Amino acid sequence: MTRDIGLKVNEPKRECTDKHCPFHGELAIRGKLFDGKVTGSKARQTITLQKDAPIYFNKFKRYARGKSSIHAHVPGCIDVESGDKVLTAECRPISKSVCYVVVEVRS
Ligand SMILES: [Zn+2]
Repeated sequence: MTRDIGLKVNEPKRECTDKHCPFHGELAIRGKLFDGKVTGSKARQTITLQKDAPIYFNKFKRYARGKSSIHAHVPGCIDVESGDKVLTAECRPISKSVCYVVVEVRS
C-alpha cells in the first residue's frame, strides 16, 4: 500500500521494503523541497544533487554563478541515474550528510 506523503507527485509504480521510503516505509517528510540535477549516483542508495543558486552582488548589481549541492537518499522503488532531474523533500537525518529523500524523477 502506498502512503499519501502530502505532495502532488507521481507515486512510484512498484513497492519496496525500504524503511527509509516515504511511500512504503516509515519516513516522514517535512520542510524544504530541493529540485536539482543528479551529479553522482555511485553510492548504493545515495545520490548527489546540484542546482544553480546565483549569488547577487549589490556593489556590482550583478549575479555570480553559484551552485548548491546536497546528498539525498534514493528509496528502493525509485530508479535514478546520473543526469536525471529529481525532486527531493527534506526528512529527518538518515545519515551524517543525508537529510533529503527523492520523491519524484522528472523527465
Ligand atoms: Zn518505496
